Amino acid sequence: MDLADLYRDLHRHPELAFAETRTASVAARELRAAGFETTEGVGGTGVVGVLRNGDGPTALLRADMDALPVREETGLPYAATAVVDRDGDRVPVAHACGHDVHVTCLVGAARQLAARRDGWRGTLLAVCQPAEEVGGGAEAMVADGLFDRFGRPDVVLGQHVAPIPAGFLGLRPGPAFAASDTVRVVLHGRGGHGSRPEAAVDPVVMAAATVLRLQAVVSREIAAGDTCVVTVGAVRAGTVANIIPDHAELLLSVRSYDPVVRDRALRAIERIVRAEAAASGAPRDPEVGVLGSYPAAVNDPDAAARTRAALSAVVGADRVVDPGPVTGSEDVGVFATAAGVPLVYWLLGGADPAAFAGATTFDELRHVVADLPANHSPHYAPVISPTLEVGVAALAAAARAWLPA
Ligand code: ZN
Ligand code: ZN
Repeated sequence: MDLADLYRDLHRHPELAFAETRTASVAARELRAAGFETTEGVGGTGVVGVLRNGDGPTALLRADMDALPVREETGLPYAATAVVDRDGDRVPVAHACGHDVHVTCLVGAARQLAARRDGWRGTLLAVCQPAEEVGGGAEAMVADGLFDRFGRPDVVLGQHVAPIPAGFLGLRPGPAFAASDTVRVVLHGRGGHGSRPEAAVDPVVMAAATVLRLQAVVSREIAAGDTCVVTVGAVRAGTVANIIPDHAELLLSVRSYDPVVRDRALRAIERIVRAEAAASGAPRDPEVGVLGSYPAAVNDPDAAARTRAALSAVVGADRVVDPGPVTGSEDVGVFATAAGVPLVYWLLGGADPAAFAGATTFDELRHVVADLPANHSPHYAPVISPTLEVGVAALAAAARAWLPA
């Protein structure tokens, strides 16, 4: 199947984390067709393709497969219209993070490396992981014996499509993607009639005060030179206008690079939540818990330099840019940490180059990037060409940098 058609097919059929059964079977079919010995069902819906080509090092190429509970509004002819059942709710699903690009590029690179196997030796591990968006996908594959069953890699390589211009790659040595913690807070009040607030403790007001006060964690408690984000992404309380509910729930996303900064932010959040509950006269202590965490993704500096040279040969040295630290998070580093080997993970430009027509300097380019729909937006729509061609060439070139001729 032509790669652009494969991409459109995956895009039309998005699946949520740990439910990527169709995507996994398409990826497995394509890896098998390329000559990879392929196993499905690794760590849930994960797929592993192995191509042994003589003695030599092993390069792991990673793609993630899951989509997001987002209603696609790109208006593209191949836009997803899927709606699925999740915990009793009907939710729309779309590839708003571009993981369909990652799977397609991995298949393309696998085909290319298999077709030119007289030019390298060693082993390729093509890994399609489930559940990057909710965390736990990489962990599940490692726990299912990924490295014992299929061999230990010498390097972990991968890429994430981003709204930088197609034809550009972004590679940052050192901490590249932030650590992420999802924090759940439950504030307890005392429910009652909406007409008699004096007989209730209103968790809606408690939640509102908490949300506002949390905005001061980063601005007042984190040093200007450190990076941290605290976002309250969900506030849930109540049902109708005339009932004061008995509790409110907040879901927070916390991003950081430095474990000390992370600790400071998490401690400040807990302190503020408890203090606001006390200030409201809450009848019970609030609950504050971390639901899930991703470690920061850290690119090994030496391995990144070696890979950068290979990427420069694909797009030109001036088109491999340093995007700065990304506050998005990734569990790709879990593979590298578990295997005890270097990680190199870069950004793949996916934005229409036409959008950057007026931008001549790097700073102007960055202004345009800031205005474009980004990953997770219902409008996020990478251009097919040259994104796929560059993504395939970048992944294949990066692999070749680790597999001797
Ligand atoms: Zn995402
Ligand atoms: Zn993603």
